Amino acid sequence: MHKDTADVVNFLLTNHIELIREPLNGELSQIYCLFDAKDLTEESFIAIMHEIREVAKGAFVLETNPISGEEAIRFVDTVILNELYHLLKNKKRVRQKEETRSVNKADKFNRLIEYKESNFLYRIQHILDRKTQACMLASERARFVYPTTPIVPRCDRQDHRALLAQCVIIVNNKIVSLKWSNFITNGDDFIHCVQNKIHFVPNIKPKTDVSLGDCSYLDTCHKMHSCRYVHYLPYIPQALEIKYKKQLSEQNEIRAINPAICLYTRGECCTNLSRYVTPPQWIQCDVRKFDLQSLGKFSAVIADPAWNIHMNLPYGTCNDTELLNLPLEILQDEGVLLLWVTGRAIELGKESLQKWGYRVTNEISWVKTNQLGRTIVTGRTGHWLNHSKEHLLVGLKGDPTWINRNVDVDLIVAPTRETSHKPDDLYGIVERLVGLHSRKLEIFGRTHNLRPGWLTIGNQLDGVHLVDPEIKRKIVC
Ligand SMILES: [Zn+2]
Ligand SMILES: [Zn+2]
Repeated sequence: MHKDTADVVNFLLTNHIELIREPLNGELSQIYCLFDAKDLTEESFIAIMHEIREVAKGAFVLETNPISGEEAIRFVDTVILNELYHLLKNKKRVRQKEETRSVNKADKFNRLIEYKESNFLYRIQHILDRKTQACMLASERARFVYPTTPIVPRCDRQDHRALLAQCVIIVNNKIVSLKWSNFITNGDDFIHCVQNKIHFVPNIKPKTDVSLGDCSYLDTCHKMHSCRYVHYLPYIPQALEIKYKKQLSEQNEIRAINPAICLYTRGECCTNLSRYVTPPQWIQCDVRKFDLQSLGKFSAVIADPAWNIHMNLPYGTCNDTELLNLPLEILQDEGVLLLWVTGRAIELGKESLQKWGYRVTNEISWVKTNQLGRTIVTGRTGHWLNHSKEHLLVGLKGDPTWINRNVDVDLIVAPTRETSHKPDDLYGIVERLVGLHSRKLEIFGRTHNLRPGWLTIGNQLDGVHLVDPEIKRKIVC
């Protein structure tokens, strides 16, 4: 027996799980690199392994890779190895390891990486590239649990728009009925399309000048009554609307009651039955003067400050210093804060997040689309280039291990609504990130921002509505 046999057996016994797993995969040359041996050559090491296999039959299974010719351990029987180890120990007292013989962990790792035949770095890369189970579980759960919203296909054919314009009767900017005689003479193709897609019909009024083309703002035009550009009205047959709604509500109902989905995800309990989402809560207040401490801690915070960007916006703005001085650092010990920023406020927003103790880890872009589903080319904001998107800084505080990673992307494509009304898609992203049942806060929110599971504060809300007894107790209404 080789003098190092007992050490090799002991090494196999102690590390058998790690040795068989990735990235080593039981390969003898790789195991040799990790073995704590100073004067043992790889050949001797492999010889020892063969020796052990001969002496203690069944202690491990060796397989040869047909392509590389590399020998690898596939299975280790620790009972047999243990017996062998004790035999060897009794026979010959295991030598004390000398100080000089010990190789530290970093050296072992470097030896693995430097090993000339080794594709160890590639294997590590492969492991790091792979999504973790928690991550896959979270996205799977999101896909099965979250309700879907309807997307009715849209027809973009100009000739259909023109034909439909001759068929519809518009009263007070609403399509009230169809002239069936015109409708039917236009052929099956057209009828089928109208019945199955949403169409946008030009809303031609006496003052409209068709030669000017489409209004840049379309349905969000502030001067719809005097604007001479072309605006559109959506036409969707009632039967089609009902069909989509019915299909979706059925799908969503199945999702909601599906007993097969009780997958555990970080931040969520296994079943929805044992917990409910709190109804929308709100407090009308001046955020600048409000005692934020009384609200407690949150796992996610959204803030949409009315940055003072010298534009005539239909709501009050507060200046940069006031925003910077808000004590937002008290709202979270760890979690995410999402801050909407515009133009030059981007730098200020980053500064503010840092001041409140956050690292800016991501930036979500909202690409704005208009009524006709096109990207917006004539925004109402922008000094040099028109703004066709908006930015949301994602600040991370602490190291929240409970956050569900890699479920959503950093892009929202959604239509614009009235000024500063942000897309609802964001709530879904945040809820999937921190969990449906965690405490979430929106600062500078308005009535359209109220949502189950969220507490909204802002000066344009209507009074106070609280369910959470903790906050109720602290806030004297
Ligand atoms: Zn069509
Ligand atoms: Zn207009």
